[in-house]
Amino acid sequence: MSSNTVEKKLVKSNSGLRMVAKNDFESSPFLLDEPPWVPDEKCEQCMQCGNKFELFKRRHHCRRCGRCFCKDCCDELLPLPRMCFVDPVRLCRYCANITRKENDFFETHLKVLLDGGIFIIQESKESKGPIYLCKLSPDQRTIIFEGQVSTIDPILVQHIESLQILACPDALGNNVASGLAMKYRDKLGDIQVLKMSVAAGPEKKQAQNWILALQKAFRMVYESRVSS
Ligand SMILES: [Zn+2]
Ligand SMILES: [Zn+2]
Repeated sequence: MSSNTVEKKLVKSNSGLRMVAKNDFESSPFLLDEPPWVPDEKCEQCMQCGNKFELFKRRHHCRRCGRCFCKDCCDELLPLPRMCFVDPVRLCRYCANITRKENDFFETHLKVLLDGGIFIIQESKESKGPIYLCKLSPDQRTIIFEGQVSTIDPILVQHIESLQILACPDALGNNVASGLAMKYRDKLGDIQVLKMSVAAGPEKKQAQNWILALQKAFRMVYESRVSS
């Protein structure tokens, strides 16, 4: 099977139908596990407004956090690509806010990452370094580097430890991204730092957008890593 396609399967849960990778090891690093639902009997009142549940005030579970709310506090239906739901799902206010921001990532920034940007990779301080097309692999798991002469090992998104965005003023004096330093763990588990600079030329803007998209991607993966 080529790395361009990830085989998917349909699975059913309490919350709805999901389309997930057939093999777990092919799952995108941007995905979240479904939370366990707070059991009905453990929840006598809405976890937002505190109103008691009764016959006509039913419980509704937020699909993202699994907590229990009344209808008014859990009335948003949104697509939830981080959990692979086929249809929009019910979300509490808090989760709806986060989800809206993340859906923006899936709708715009993910495409920027997949398209890639042109960067100069600095292997040492002295050399200017060769030029690479850096992009997210189609299965979203790795950052790959396509160069004309040399090669760089792909970096797993899950193995990025930190990103430092480098900025410099443009012609108008506004700060724009000029490069980044990526700290990551290599195949042996050793910490490495890769320095990438935006290459001058017509594709400069695209590379700057790529850096910002990577920053959003990293935050999303990192936040779910520290909260789990
Ligand atoms: Zn409520
Ligand atoms: Zn929620």
